[in-house]
Amino acid sequence: MPDTKRYQTSTMTKMHNTRASLETMPDEILLQILNYALILPRGIHFNRWHALKELRLHPVRCIKVLSRISPEAFYGTNVVTIGPSNFGSRRMEERRSGAPDRLYIQYPPTAVNHWVRRLEIALKVEDFSYRYPPSRNECQTTWQISWLKRLAAGHCGFLQLVRLSLRFDMWPNSKDDGDFWDAMAKWPGKLRENGVDATPGSMIIFRAPTVEIVVVGHRCTSEPCSTASEDSKACLYVRVLGRFFGTRH
Ligand SMILES: [Zn+2]
Repeated sequence: MPDTKRYQTSTMTKMHNTRASLETMPDEILLQILNYALILPRGIHFNRWHALKELRLHPVRCIKVLSRISPEAFYGTNVVTIGPSNFGSRRMEERRSGAPDRLYIQYPPTAVNHWVRRLEIALKVEDFSYRYPPSRNECQTTWQISWLKRLAAGHCGFLQLVRLSLRFDMWPNSKDDGDFWDAMAKWPGKLRENGVDATPGSMIIFRAPTVEIVVVGHRCTSEPCSTASEDSKACLYVRVLGRFFGTRH
C-alpha cells in the first residue's frame, strides 16, 4: 500500500474510532469535556455573541453526537452579558427616512437561555436618549426598569439563573465622571416613579438565588465593606440600589 493511502486509511480508522468512542460515552462525561472545551475567559458578551456562536459553538454542534448537548455547555459554562444597545436597530428604510436609532436588548432565545446560569446586565447609566431614544415615549432609565420587570416576571426566559448581576458601568469614553454620578443619583427616584420601592411588596424580585449590584466594578462582598475611600460613592449606590431588588430564594 502506498504511504499516502496507508496514512488516509489510518486517519479514517482513528476518526471512526473517536466517533465510536464518543457515541458510547454518557452525556455527563461528554458535557464535562465540552464545558472545558467551550470555556471563554471573557464570557459571552452580546457584542461578540454572533461571532462566538460561529467560531466556537457551530464547529462542535456539527458533530452529531455533541450537537444536542453543546448549547448546554456553551451557555451554561460561561458568564453571559447582555445590555441595551442601539447597534443595527434600524432597518435600511428607517435609516433612509432619518428615524433615530432605538435602544433594544438582544439576548439568546428562550429555547437555549434556560441553560444560562450566570447573567450580567450592563445597564446604560449616562443618558444617551438624545441620540438613541427608546422606541416608546419613555426616558432611557424608565425603559430599562420596564425591561428588568419583564425579566423578573419571566417573560424573557433565563429561568434557571444561579447569579444575576446588575452592572452600572461608566461609559468607556466618558470624559467627565460627574455626568455618570449625576445619572446614578436619578435611579432611586426613577425606580420609585415606576412603582418600585424598597418595601417587600414593591421590590423587583428576580428568579435567581443571588442578585448582586455592581457599580463601576465595585461589589460589596464583605460586611462591613473594606472599600478604599475613592470607591465610597460606588459602595453607597450598591447599598442604595440593592434595596430595590430582591430574590425569590
Ligand atoms: Zn462596598
